[in-house]
Amino acid sequence: MTVVTRFAPSPTGYLHVGGARTALYSWLHAQKHQGEFVLRIEDTDRERSTDAAVQAILDGMQWLGLAHTQGPFYQTQRFDRYKEVVAQLLTAGDAYRCYCSKERLEALREEQMANKQKPRYDGRCRGLSESEQDVNAPHVIRFKNPLDGKVTWQDAVKGEITFANQELDDLIIARTDGTPTYNFTVVVDDWDMKITQVIRGDDHVNNTPRQINIFKALNATPPEYAHVPMILGDDGKKLSKRHGAVSVMQYRDEGYLPQAVLNYLVRLGWSHGDQEIFSLEEMKQLFDIHQINKAASAFNTDKLRWLNQHYIKTSPVAEVKQALQWHLEEQQLDVSNGPDVAALIPLFAERVHTLKELVASIRYFYQDFSEFDAAAAKKHLRPVAAEALTTVMTKLKALTTWQAETIQGAIDETVNELEIGMGKVGMPLRVAVTGGGQSPNLDVTLALIDQATVIARIEAALVFIEQRAAQ
Ligand code: GLU
Repeated sequence: MTVVTRFAPSPTGYLHVGGARTALYSWLHAQKHQGEFVLRIEDTDRERSTDAAVQAILDGMQWLGLAHTQGPFYQTQRFDRYKEVVAQLLTAGDAYRCYCSKERLEALREEQMANKQKPRYDGRCRGLSESEQDVNAPHVIRFKNPLDGKVTWQDAVKGEITFANQELDDLIIARTDGTPTYNFTVVVDDWDMKITQVIRGDDHVNNTPRQINIFKALNATPPEYAHVPMILGDDGKKLSKRHGAVSVMQYRDEGYLPQAVLNYLVRLGWSHGDQEIFSLEEMKQLFDIHQINKAASAFNTDKLRWLNQHYIKTSPVAEVKQALQWHLEEQQLDVSNGPDVAALIPLFAERVHTLKELVASIRYFYQDFSEFDAAAAKKHLRPVAAEALTTVMTKLKALTTWQAETIQGAIDETVNELEIGMGKVGMPLRVAVTGGGQSPNLDVTLALIDQATVIARIEAALVFIEQRAAQ
C-alpha cells in the first residue's frame, strides 16, 4: 500500500514553527516510504481564513523545500462532496437532523453545568421519525455516535489511547446553513485522499475518537494516527509569539538557511542517538514516527543559531550565496562593485551565525562607512597610532601589485622599521579600513578591497585622529 501523508493547515495565520514541524514529519514519512505527500488547505472557517494566510503557508512550505506531490486541495472547493457524504450517512441512519434551538441547547448546557456534568447534547432529536420532522425547518445534521462501547487506537507516538463512547456526544457535521464542520471534513478528506498516516499536533487527540467513529460508519479504515507533543518556549510555557516564535518566513528574514531550520525542527521532538546534524538524506532514512518523543520539547534559539552557523560553514558556497541574495536586496547592499560574495562567505562563516549578520559584516567591502565603531576607534585610533598608519599607508600606496602577499609585506616592513609589535600596526589599520576591531586576516581582507579605497580610508582615519587630538 502506498504511504500517503498530508499537511492540513487552517489558513488563519502564518506557517508557524509547530505547523512546519508537523509538515516536515509528514513529508519525511512519505519520503522515507516513497509515498505521496498531500497539501490540504482547511479553509472551511471562512471568517478566519484569508488568502494572505494561504499564500504565507505556500511560501513557507516552498522556502523549506517541503514539496507536496498532491494538491493543494481546498476544502471550500469540496462542499459538494461533503454534502454527498452527509446524505449517505443520513440514508444509512448514521446521522440525523437536529431541530433543537440555540435557546434549548443553551438551557441544557446551563443545567448540565449546574449539575456538574460535562455539557453534551442529550440526543433529543436522535430518535425522531420521519413524520415527526419538518425537513424544511432550520436544522443541523448530527452524527449518530455509538452510545456505548469504546474507541481505541494505537497512536504511533502515544501508544494505546481509549475513549468511552459515552464521553462523546453526537457532533454536528453540517451547520444550519449546510456548511460542513471540521471533524467531518477531515474524515471525508482523509478517506478520499487515501491518507495512511495522520501526523498532527496532540491538541487533536480529543477529535480522533470522533473521527474514527465516522470512519467506521462509512465502512472505511481509519489511518494510523501520530499525535506529536507540543513545543514549549524556553520557560516551559506553550510556545507563542512571546518567545519570538514566529512564522517560518521570519526565520528566513532573520537569516537562517532552510536546511538549518529543517535540521532544527527534526530534532525538536525526535532523536537518533545523540546525533545533532542530519543531512536531508539522513533525515529521510532515519526518521521514524514511532520514535517521536512522548514529552513536549522546548525551543532553543541558541541551538538553532549554532546549526545555522554549521550550515553556513559547510554548505556549498554557491548555495549560501544564493540564499544571501535576498538579504543583500533586503539590506540594500549592492555587491556589483566589489569582490564576489562567494569569496567572502568562507572568510566570515566562523564569525557569523546568520545571513543577516553576514551582510552586516561584509558591508565595508562594498561601501564606505560613515563612522568608526566607537569602542574600536577609542582604543586603536589614538595619536600614537598615527605614525604606524602613515608609514604603512606610504608602503601600501607604493605597491604595484595588490595581493595578500604584497600587503602582508608592507605591514611586516612597517613593523620592522618602527620596531613595534604587529598589533600596533594591525589594529589601527584594521579599524581604519573596516571601521571596526574585528575582521578576517588583514592581508586577505585588504586584498579584496581596492587599493585606492584602502588608502583613502587610512587617510580618513588619520584625519579622525588629528581631529580627536585637537578636541
Ligand atoms: N486544520 C487543522 C489545524 O490546522 C489540522 C487538522 C488535522 O491535521 O487533522 O489544526
